[in-house]
Amino acid sequence: MNNSECCDATLLNYNDGLGICSDCKEWAGQHKDDNMNKETLNKISALLSEARTLLDDMETTEHDDDIRENWIYQIETLETEIDSVLKTMNKETET
Ligand SMILES: [Zn+2]
Repeated sequence: MNNSECCDATLLNYNDGLGICSDCKEWAGQHKDDNMNKETLNKISALLSEARTLLDDMETTEHDDDIRENWIYQIETLETEIDSVLKTMNKETET
């Protein structure tokens, strides 16, 4: 599959590693292998989960609790995003 490195969209007129990105219409190279990124994302995901556990266990005053809840919420949002990226990557390697 030839996807652009800029937008991960289909490359048009693909030839010899270069094509026109169907998304932004710029010349772009081919999307590189995602294995290293996947490994990094898995590490980040694990760290986020650890951070969330630490925040969960942290003792806070009532005032700080709002801040903590907000952080946990943001970490969960990030985790969800990373998970969906990882899922997409796994689908791509299966096909
Ligand atoms: Zn593009």
